[in-house]
Amino acid sequence: MSTSLINPFQMAQQQFDHVADLLQLDPAVRDFLRWPQREFHFRIPVHMDDGSVRIFQGYRVQHNDARGPHKGGLRFHPSETIDSVRALATWMTWKCAVADIPLGGGKGGVIVDPATLSTSEKERLVRGWVQQMWKNIGPRLDVPAPDVGTTPQMMGWMMDEYSKLAGEFTPGVITGKPVGGGGSLGRTEATGFGVVYTIREALQHLKIDSRNTRAAVQGFGNVAQYAAIGFQEILGGEVACVSYWDRSDRTSYTVSKASGFDARFLQSITDQYGTIDKAKALDSGYKIEDSEAWLSQEADVLIPAALEGQINALNVHDISSRVKIIAEGANGPTTPEADTVIRERGIFMLPDFLCNSGGVTVSYFESVQNDMNYYWPREEVLQKEDHILTSAFHAVLDMALSQDVYMRDAAYMVAIARVVKAMQLRGWI
Ligand code: GLU
Repeated sequence: MSTSLINPFQMAQQQFDHVADLLQLDPAVRDFLRWPQREFHFRIPVHMDDGSVRIFQGYRVQHNDARGPHKGGLRFHPSETIDSVRALATWMTWKCAVADIPLGGGKGGVIVDPATLSTSEKERLVRGWVQQMWKNIGPRLDVPAPDVGTTPQMMGWMMDEYSKLAGEFTPGVITGKPVGGGGSLGRTEATGFGVVYTIREALQHLKIDSRNTRAAVQGFGNVAQYAAIGFQEILGGEVACVSYWDRSDRTSYTVSKASGFDARFLQSITDQYGTIDKAKALDSGYKIEDSEAWLSQEADVLIPAALEGQINALNVHDISSRVKIIAEGANGPTTPEADTVIRERGIFMLPDFLCNSGGVTVSYFESVQNDMNYYWPREEVLQKEDHILTSAFHAVLDMALSQDVYMRDAAYMVAIARVVKAMQLRGWI
């Protein structure tokens, strides 16, 4: 199903309303949390390589900063809308709260297919984004980061632009920067490995030996790549397939191999936009099927790690009876209709803002290291990330078990309670 048929912000509000009802949340608090605190809509003129000027639509949505500066990525995607950015900003508030890191929620975007821009056009576009927003972002205000369609190099340019405008070196204005340019070791793999840490905890809870499990992954961008690699290398499990978006023929495919699937090899033949070299994959014995095949694989764990709305009313019944866990590496991959079916089937849900909170957790570590101007070794970063994600998982599981609620609702309960408490402590409510 095309993502444009699903309004992600309605989805985010629906999920929130459901839990607000369960919690009997005060109407004013509810009204405040249903909407972003602030939104920026702006136009960015960019000089293109051919001498023309193109105007891009940019956004930044600041959902809530009760617990700390707004935090969240920048998504450059052709089907970006203000509602997708609002939804993603809202989920960031819950994500930082569930991970219990002292940050709020925000998200930004530009309507663009970055693959159609040259390197220097990309640089001018991201510098233009900062020129529009620099008065309203900053280490104590709002800290962007990478997301779909943006890269560490782009974060490096944005940090440079902000530092020039602010008149001082300000690495903490943005995270996900390249290592050596203010970035943290471990940030690249943080989101995908975090997905795997939460799967590990879920498997232990369900008393399943990870070495006997198979995972099917949707997507092969940054999150999916490291989720697949981590599933093999950290858990000793087998990857059944990944799917990817082929830029050349604008189609999605599922890539599988009956045995000997090697996620690191596939990563080595994938470009920066997540497109796998089909010929090389076929040469190495991989099978290429249609895009939806990932969902119906005989797998124990499904990892949707692409875009929102991918598991929906039209395809949820294709999920195999072998599936025991759904680990949402993407933000908002499951629509509320599909979620009801999954809950009724008793599949263990690792909801997005818990499951993929490893990225923002290491972003938080990056900003801490920027403040100290002292950098930790990779192992230390990943250990600290694991500790935070494991604690977050158990806080949510305890809530689910004690209140007898679905894991997604439990994650909302933990997150909302923390945000409401911060708003109370600050005297907002
Ligand atoms: N874009 C990532 C997310 O959705 C990371 C955000 C960040 O590091 O601030 O969680």
